[in-house]
Amino acid sequence: MILLDGKKLSEEILDEIAKKVDKIKKNNKKVPHLAAILVGNDGASETYVASKVKNCEKVGFNSTFIRLDADVSEQKLLETIQDLNENSDIDGFIVQLPLPKHINESKITDAILPSKDVDGFHPTNVGYLALGNPKFVSATPNGVMEMLKRYDIDTEGKYCVVLGRSNIVGSPMAILMSKNTKPGNATVTVCHSKTRNLIEFTSKADILIVAIGKPEFITSNMVKEGAVIIDVGIHRVADASKKSGFKLVGDVKFDEVAPKSSYITPVPGGVGLMTICSLLQNTLKATENSF
Ligand code: NAP
Repeated sequence: MILLDGKKLSEEILDEIAKKVDKIKKNNKKVPHLAAILVGNDGASETYVASKVKNCEKVGFNSTFIRLDADVSEQKLLETIQDLNENSDIDGFIVQLPLPKHINESKITDAILPSKDVDGFHPTNVGYLALGNPKFVSATPNGVMEMLKRYDIDTEGKYCVVLGRSNIVGSPMAILMSKNTKPGNATVTVCHSKTRNLIEFTSKADILIVAIGKPEFITSNMVKEGAVIIDVGIHRVADASKKSGFKLVGDVKFDEVAPKSSYITPVPGGVGLMTICSLLQNTLKATENSF
């Protein structure tokens, strides 16, 4: 079993981005600038946004953090997005999801200028991806592809099962794995909550990508011997032995699945770190597109 080390890879990628930023600065070109909007004070979202901003600083980007109250009106959020769309100093921006229930998420995603949509959620960017001409790809699936590429994992002709069909993870993941690319060219099945006999699919998968949001759902009897296991899930579960009172686990029961796998991502230290790298790579791309 080989651990797909998101920590090591992300350090490599952040270093590559930082070197490109140095070059940009030396050439007196525009320094990449990412803005992040956070609505409300959900603990997990705060942690994600803080980590994104911290990593911007690490690679030499400029960053702007916009915090709005949980009861902010949809109109005010749309106006904030419009300001960022029109601000030529901002190359890309994200609105951290999930949003409070009174705000229509798709209305918000649709309002972001596609050329600044570094999360890759806008229908224009999703359309480009579906057509095999990706511009900004959703950060998590993009991070998984980068991981498969850098570990030189053979995906061509392999049977890939993607568990979950969300717009931000499962669906774009399945599209990417099925495209005529390297990595890619897999034969893909998408499973979801209405799939019958899930185990019939998971236990045949050469590559199993799990994004269902259920802690330690995948057990060893559900996976094929020698499979590549990508665990996108991330959950805090109570653990009295930890000072914090919790530990992080994925959608896969790591301890029992790992010995059966050929490659596996840990949680933490796997896909999550790759997601942040993808966001920064997209932001750098947005800046370079403006040169
Ligand atoms: P989501 O929007 O809740 O989607 C979950 C998907 O899983 C849905 O398509 C759902 O099916 C399916 N599902 C739920 N229960 C199932 C079951 N028992 N069997 C088969 N399929 C089932 O979640 P998401 O946003 O894609 O995120 C998934 C997980 O990844 C979460 O743990 C999230 O925290 C994590 N995540 C991590 C990162 C990262 O950077 N590491 C980034 C994003 C998300 P239906 O469509 O039928 O409801």
